[in-house]
Formats: sequence, C-alpha cells, structure tokens
Amino acid sequence: MNEYDVLIAGSGVAGLYAALNFEPETKVLVLSKRELTLCNSYLAQGGVAAVVDKTDDDYRLHIADTLIAGGYKNDLRSLEILVNEGPEDVLRLIKQMGVEFDRDETRQISMTLEGGHSRRRILHHKDSTGREITSKLLAAAKSRSNITFMEYTHLSSLKPVQGGFWAGVLDQQGFHYISCSYCILCTGGIGRMYPYTTNSAIATGDGITLAHELGAKTKNLHLIQFHPTAFAAAQGRERFLISEAVRGEGAILVNCFGEQFMKSYDKRGELAPRDVVSRSIIKESIRTGNEDFYLDITGRGEEFIKRRFPMIYERCLEEGIDIAKDRIPVFPCQHYLMGGINVNVYGDTTVDRLYAAGECSHTGVHGMNRLASNSLLEALVFARRCTYDISRRMRHEQSSVTSPPPPLPTGKRALEPGYRTSIRQIIGRAWFVVPNYEAVHDGLKESTKILKKLKNNDYAITSDYLEAKSLATICTLLLKEVVQKEPEESWLEDLH
Ligand SMILES: Cc1cc2nc3c(=O)[nH]c(=O)nc-3n(C[C@H](O)[C@H](O)[C@H](O)COP(=O)(O)OP(=O)(O)OC[C@H]3O[C@@H](n4cnc5c(N)ncnc54)[C@H](O)[C@@H]3O)c2cc1C
Repeated sequence: MNEYDVLIAGSGVAGLYAALNFEPETKVLVLSKRELTLCNSYLAQGGVAAVVDKTDDDYRLHIADTLIAGGYKNDLRSLEILVNEGPEDVLRLIKQMGVEFDRDETRQISMTLEGGHSRRRILHHKDSTGREITSKLLAAAKSRSNITFMEYTHLSSLKPVQGGFWAGVLDQQGFHYISCSYCILCTGGIGRMYPYTTNSAIATGDGITLAHELGAKTKNLHLIQFHPTAFAAAQGRERFLISEAVRGEGAILVNCFGEQFMKSYDKRGELAPRDVVSRSIIKESIRTGNEDFYLDITGRGEEFIKRRFPMIYERCLEEGIDIAKDRIPVFPCQHYLMGGINVNVYGDTTVDRLYAAGECSHTGVHGMNRLASNSLLEALVFARRCTYDISRRMRHEQSSVTSPPPPLPTGKRALEPGYRTSIRQIIGRAWFVVPNYEAVHDGLKESTKILKKLKNNDYAITSDYLEAKSLATICTLLLKEVVQKEPEESWLEDLH
C-alpha cells in the first residue's frame, strides 16, 4: 500500500501541477505537512506574469524586464524556457482547470501592471490569484484516481536505495516509512526563519534541508527578497502583504512627513523593483530617523479600491484601516527566496531520482531579485518539466524499491523551547534588507552551534524538532554563503 512511483512533498502550485501532469497510470502521492491549503501559493495576491497577448507585448520584453530586475545574474536558458513555455501553462489553467482570471467588459483578460514590468502582463483574480489557482488545481487533482493525498504528514527523511527512496514520514499516528521511485520536493520557502515574513507557517525550508542532508547542491540561499510593503501591524509577528499591484494601480509611498520620496532614490519611483524599493525605505528611515512609512491609494476612489482589492480592503479594515480613506502603514519584510536546491531545466537535482520545483528550487530564472509575479509561473513551468523527465525515465529504469525499510528512529529527548526564536534573532540582526557583516560573522558561529546541538542530542522526531533543525540548517548555509561572497558583493551596501 505504501509504495508509490512518485512522492511529491508539497501541495502548493508546484506540487499540485506536477501531480496533474503525470499519466493516469503513474501512482502519485502528495504530502502536505499541515492542511492542504496552508501554503504560500494560497496567499499569492498579485497574479501570474505571462505574455498571453502579443498585441502590445513580446517574449523579449518579459525576458528583458526579468533580467533588469535580476541584475543580469539570471540563468538565460532557464529564463527563456520560463517566458516561452509559461503562457501555454497559464492558458491550460484557464482551459483545463477552470481557473478564472479577471476580464474587462469585452471579456478580454484584463492585465495589470507590477513593479519592474514594462507592460501590463499580469493575469490576476482580483487580489486573491493564488487562492483561485490553488483551489482549482486541488479540485482537479482530487478527482484523479492515481493521486493520493496525505494531509498533516511531515516528510522527515529520505534514504536513497536501489530503485528509489525510503521516505520517513510523521503523521498523526506516528513515524513510518513509504517507498517511492522518484521524489519531487515542492516544499516552498524559508520565510519562517525571519522575525517578520509574509510567508505561511509551513515555510521552514524542510525540502532544502532534506536535499542538503542527501548531499544535493544548493545555491544562492542568501538571495532573499524583502517585500517593501507588508502591513506594519502595531503588534504581533504576522505580516500580510499589500500587493505590488496596489502601487501598480497608482498608490504612492510616503515617509513619516507625508513626503513622496522614491524618485530621489530611483527614477522609476514607486514602480522600481522590490529590492530597490525596500533598500530605499531603509535608507529613507536612516535619513529621517523614523520607521513610519505609508502607502496611499485613496486617490483611486472607494468603488475602484473595493472592486480591485477586496481582500486587502477587508484585511486592512480588520486592523482598523479603511484604505479608501486612510494611508496604509507599511514596512519591508521577508517575502521570497530566490535561491534553493540547485536544479537543471528539468528540475533534476544533483542527487539521483531527486527533483525539486517551486520556491524551494533554484532554476536561476530570478537572478539576484525576482520580478513580481514570476514565481507562480516558475512553479508551473518547472513542475511540469519535472514530470516530463520522470515519466521519460520511468519508461526504461528499474523503478521499484525491494530493500527493507531502515530502522525506526529511536530518539526520546523532548525539544527544549527557544531554538527557533534564537535563529530568528540571528538572521534578523545579520540579513534584513541590507547585510550587517559583523552580525553575519557572529551569527554564523551561533547558528552552527545550535545546529550541532539539534543534530547530536538524540531528540524525538516531532514536527517542532524537524522545523527547528531545518531553520538552523538554512540559517547556517545562508550565512556561510554570505561570508564566502562578502568581498565580491559590494552591491549589498552594509548601512550599519
Ligand atoms: C503573501 C504572498 C503573496 C505572493 N504573491 C505572489 C504573486 O502574486 N505572484 C507570484 O508569482 N508569486 C507570489 N508569491 C510567491 C508564490 O506564491 C510562491 O513562491 C509560490 O506559490 C510557491 O509555491 P510552492 O508550490 O513552491 O510552495 P508552497 O505553495 O508554499 O507549498 C509548499 C507545500 O509544501 C508542504 N511542505 C513543506 N514542508 C513539508 C514537509 N517537510 N513535509 C510535507 N510537506 C511539506 C507544505 O505543507 C505546502 O503544502 C507570493 C507569496 C506570498 C507569501
């Protein structure tokens, strides 16, 4: 019963789209460590970028915009695949999965604009595009008899054996093993390593940690995107996103004196890419000595705001801000990871039979900084390419695990509280929008110690333990990269 052709860890856009691309005879298992819809995909607001209408747009323009945002450090081959193949995947969402994007009075898809895009090419479903796409993919996947879902099931370990892997999983009954011939890691981002993030609670870098533990190459974990406009709640850690599209639709960004300041840092003003806007906010806060910043969309009028941004409107109202009348308090926070498990253009890692797609992978398409709305597109395109490669291999490789499962883990020690808080403090001091190199060096020593303790103390396998170990692993790998790259990356000014 517990033997699958393909195990997919993750039920976000990458995991679901990968599952749906397999032939009906392929036995696929999708794991989700919490409820199926708790993931970053579900939270995506702005939309998905694709050149589906070439009247006023062109693949070359989308590539050029992505290169500019990425500081020309993007992998050109992957980027060309993304932009050329992406529109077909997006059209499939509409035609085969029933995804609905907003349309104008003439039923044409209405495209919006976001920072760094030279054309209106963002397909969106109001301000809840991720929920629309993920729920339609989930419904389609649930209707397939070859796809099994296991919710609240945490992938804890992967042991490579002849013909595939023994995957150690932790569910509500306890720890057990499942065998699979291939594994696709679609476990999402690492945001929960930060004190403030827009990411969902599952974003603890588990897939990257598992891949690293198997010896897979990871790359550019230090390339973190900080979104410039998360709602700056007066209290609590949770931050929700005020989509880029709000600036795309004309919102202005002002400092504590109510002054518009972006043009003094970048001629693109509010529509500069995210890294530029985030760094400008930090510089402006140092100049004014004040961290109060606001987005003002009141100029667009109540009717437009409620129709175009219903979710953001309601969410801000819950925090006591009527965005049709008031400015929205905002500040940068962690949002996205450009780096991850290094993969080729078929999502293949450096470990045999191990694939990765979505935010946990590094295809190189984003370069130093992701262009808005390119990540849902990346998840779709490269998840599909993983399935293509696995299906091709399945036709001529031995694909069943015959060896016995490994012994069950025996650790008994309960995890002491505080590890996750320590990691958040280390990274918050060392690497938030701009680096603080002194804190990077000190932080690396501290996180290495924490990781050693977590690995060497015979802890019982619980979700809490696994996530603490993942966060300590990612923090240590990231800070190591920063130390190695410090001399060459002068673009990241240390403002401390
Ligand atoms: C607030 C917000 C808004 C965004 N807006 C946009 C946007 O408008 N456009 C855009 O292109 N991008 C946007 N992004 C980014 C984009 O949503 C994500 O990069 C993308 O959805 C990631 O998809 P994924 O499938 O890789 O991961 P996720 O959707 O995060 O899914 C990860 C899955 O992995 C599972 N998982 C994790 N660890 C384990 C484990 N150990 N065992 C089992 N399961 C595990 C989780 O349970 C979850 O199901 C946004 C992100 C956020 C946070």
